[in-house]
Amino acid sequence: MSETYDFLFKFLVIGNAGTGKSCLLHQFIEKRFKEDSNHTIGVEFGSKIISVVNKFVKLQIWDTAGQERFSRETYNALTNWLTDARMLASQNIVIILCGNKKDLDADREVTFLEASRFAQENELMFLETSALTGENVEEAFVQCARKILNKIESGELDPERMGSGIQYGDAALRQLRSPRRAQAQSAQECGC
Ligand code: GDP
Ligand code: MG
Repeated sequence: MSETYDFLFKFLVIGNAGTGKSCLLHQFIEKRFKEDSNHTIGVEFGSKIISVVNKFVKLQIWDTAGQERFSRETYNALTNWLTDARMLASQNIVIILCGNKKDLDADREVTFLEASRFAQENELMFLETSALTGENVEEAFVQCARKILNKIESGELDPERMGSGIQYGDAALRQLRSPRRAQAQSAQECGC
């Protein structure tokens, strides 16, 4: 069975070990909490097609592994993760900060306000999520995809640029090659 989608977006889930990256990915794709959480070895991969503002977008999500411990350090390490992401990925990269394990409110070490401010200062979107209850998990991926679509529409992101992390899917390519566009093109070329 062939899959039809307008765009393909590459997502990377980064952050310290134990913060719930694999569980977030699992909750988003399978709609349930991954009970038997093994440590991620190397990189794991998942994909899902979602519908955002009348477009079908395939999210290709890469889950990464790290060695760090779980504590407030995970928040303190954000600056390093951001530097890496901005240096290694596209300049116009869209980043959402997920404050995960929202369900463990009693053990909270970072207030919502503190993290919101950090997000604002670093031009990140921000949501508090729970891979356990599913709260805001779908929203995090969808909000990110919506922002990328906006950037494509405004011309800030170009799916045809190599290494941008976004591509046209077959549905969009078919539209680009539609007869109307072909006619307009040949009228331009003819010069009459
Ligand atoms: P990763 O190293 O970032 O991939 O973290 P994992 O996804 O393997 O999760 C690490 C641990 O946190 C596991 O024991 C999960 O069961 C637990 N965990 C992940 N997300 C949540 C969450 O939203 N709430 C709670 N209470 N536990 C979570
Ligand atoms: Mg993992």
